[in-house]
Amino acid sequence: MAGPKNQQIEAAIMQDTDSKLRKKNKNKQKRKIEETDAEDVEIDQNAVLEAGSTEISKKKKKKKANGDGKEEISLNGSGEESIKKNKKKSKEGEGVSEVKIAESAQEEEVIEGSGVVVSGKNVNESRYKALDSFSESGLPDDVLECCKAFDKPSPIQAHSWPFLLDGRDLIGIAATGSGKTLAFGIPAIRHVLNKRKSNASKKVYPRCLVLSPTRELAQQIADVLCDAGKPSGVRSICIYGGTSKGPQISTLKAGVDIVIGTPGRLKDLIEMGVCRLNEVSFVVLDEADRMLDMGFEPEVRSILSQTCSVRQMVMFSATWPPAVHQLAQEFMDPNPVKVVVGSEDLAANHDVMQIVEVLDERARDERLQNLLEKYHKSRKNRVLVFVLYKKEASRVESMLHRRGWKAVSISGDKAQSARTQALSQFKDGSCPLLNWSNWKSW
Ligand code: AMP
Repeated sequence: MAGPKNQQIEAAIMQDTDSKLRKKNKNKQKRKIEETDAEDVEIDQNAVLEAGSTEISKKKKKKKANGDGKEEISLNGSGEESIKKNKKKSKEGEGVSEVKIAESAQEEEVIEGSGVVVSGKNVNESRYKALDSFSESGLPDDVLECCKAFDKPSPIQAHSWPFLLDGRDLIGIAATGSGKTLAFGIPAIRHVLNKRKSNASKKVYPRCLVLSPTRELAQQIADVLCDAGKPSGVRSICIYGGTSKGPQISTLKAGVDIVIGTPGRLKDLIEMGVCRLNEVSFVVLDEADRMLDMGFEPEVRSILSQTCSVRQMVMFSATWPPAVHQLAQEFMDPNPVKVVVGSEDLAANHDVMQIVEVLDERARDERLQNLLEKYHKSRKNRVLVFVLYKKEASRVESMLHRRGWKAVSISGDKAQSARTQALSQFKDGSCPLLNWSNWKSW
């Protein structure tokens, strides 16, 4: 995280934080490699750091297969195994890099194109061909109703749906804004409808679970799934902390098909015995990397253990650090499909120009004032100001008010109703200046 003395404006905080996170992950990987070295495994460290988590998992797999004994992995292609590193350029010229273990062509296949890399067992089969249109999915009109406004499936939808509709576990590396909510949402709705057909019971139990790291993301997913499920009668509920449990408990008791929630409140309701997940056979972990970063791993594990043992699992993550990889190995099918849209490396959004300025603490307010005068004079452009600490959110909000700006703020100290109200005022443009604290961790 940026030091309190540094002010980074115009999304610059994201870039700084992300590069530190990447360094942290590399260091973690390095430590892991050093530990593994002690177990008699011969590895070229630099090559492994580039290969990342894929390499680490490979060693584990091999150990299982051999039972014991010394293993030797050659990275120069001369041994029994080699690591193949593909660095391809997409049509648009954006770099797409993929590291894959070339173990057996039958087991692992790769499809690449238009900035999307699909890998996994049998992914080249014709039934998994990416969709060019919504109708190719074969889904009924009521399920596709929510897509009417769109011309065609987005790349993550086009590549994921054939696998998800076939019941396969899937790892999606795609950023928010790629259409990933419907990428897992539509197959989730179809899953619920299939379960209903095969079970005549009148009582409605949750069949799908979507875990999200933050309340705002959970609410956003729930809004999309509530709308998408309406034409087919699939009911969703959003469960998160900071609000009264009463309405959530009543909705659960009335019966819901899809539960979207943050790990903390969900675990509470499970322990209270009001949220039963034993019929859940479709699970989505959204922003899995962030969920683990925020320390939710124990809750995630405990919640997953409550779901049906025969289940389809989908994991979406913006990055693929070892901890997420480990979770996938434990809870997913051993042969999940992996769809990478863009790059697996954590990178700043190329659509946003990022300018980093390092300023003295005392110069920050003045600089922010100048930037607002430049970009927000008409009060029409919406502006987000990210700050690191909760108390900083209140200070910046008061400072902006004193200077005549109409601003709202969101921080962990505020009641959920105030947070929701601030967000909707920002979204509808009635208060186009939002000051957001500690945004990376909630
Ligand atoms: P998400 O990544 O799920 O947050 O979606 C980002 C935005 O993309 C939302 O506003 C969606 O309504 C929109 N969207 C979802 N699917 C498509 C699609 N196939 N074509 C165009 N926009 C889409």
